[in-house]
Amino acid sequence: MTKQSGSLYVVATPIGNLADISQRAINTLTQVSCIAAEDTRHSGKLLQHLGISNRLLALHDHNEKQRAASIIEKCLAGEDIALISDAGTPLISDPGYSLVRLCREAGVPVVPVPGPCALITALCAAGLPTDKFQFIGFLAPKSSQRQTQLAAVPDSAGTIISYDTARRILDTLQDVVAVFGAERQLVLAKELTKTFEHFACGTAAEITQWLTEDPQRCQGEMVLMIAPAPSKADAEISEEVQRTLKILLAELPLKQAAALTAQIHNEKKNALYQLALSWQS
Ligand code: SAM
Repeated sequence: MTKQSGSLYVVATPIGNLADISQRAINTLTQVSCIAAEDTRHSGKLLQHLGISNRLLALHDHNEKQRAASIIEKCLAGEDIALISDAGTPLISDPGYSLVRLCREAGVPVVPVPGPCALITALCAAGLPTDKFQFIGFLAPKSSQRQTQLAAVPDSAGTIISYDTARRILDTLQDVVAVFGAERQLVLAKELTKTFEHFACGTAAEITQWLTEDPQRCQGEMVLMIAPAPSKADAEISEEVQRTLKILLAELPLKQAAALTAQIHNEKKNALYQLALSWQS
């Protein structure tokens, strides 16, 4: 009789706040026969915090393919194994893709144990459109390559989300300005789930200024979100008119705000009404 295959559990861990670990993640990490981790020293601290004394084996970009073979062998022999990364959901800008693909090819069940992920955590609180978004991971190291990558994202992609670093964020913002213009709306989500969590919202020029005003603001972990290209209606209505509309919208119902703005600036009421509606969708 052949022994039933064990499973590979892809387990999400906290991105800052340790209380974000799920009960199911704790149970899984306790029960599996061993845990494949990106950095065993780093993950050892998390396991220690959770009171889990399970065996860790290193799986990183440089040994993933070889390690995958031995993990699959163990699973096929009936062992359950967990995969974790340094933070958040494995495979999301983290190792694990080859392992999961090879497990699937070998018929080893792959079971996700969901939890924190920086891009979703950032997006759900940014106030940018969530119906469509494109995650582009870490951008390339060279400015010209970054600009090509950004320019390749179609307008229809919705909110663009990328991971960035303290060292590079100002250079990235220069590329964002070069490709999308200084007026494109951005949200920079910093230190998510940690003590100094902060969402900086504004145009590309404003966020750049905010960061340069205080070098400390460049520090920490960050997710950059780029609002979709403004609609035609947005583009045709001047900044000044849009500002008035925004101020009035904060105080008045949409219809009244649009009517008053139209009166103040001698604009078409319906265009302003549609624009305000698009901001709310
Ligand atoms: N697998 C992780 C996930 O599920 O989000 C991402 C790993 S990737 C190597 C690390 C990048 O994720 C950081 O450079 C940063 O862009 C983003 N990130 C991770 N934790 C974050 C946090 N607490 N706040 C903001 N960004 C974070």
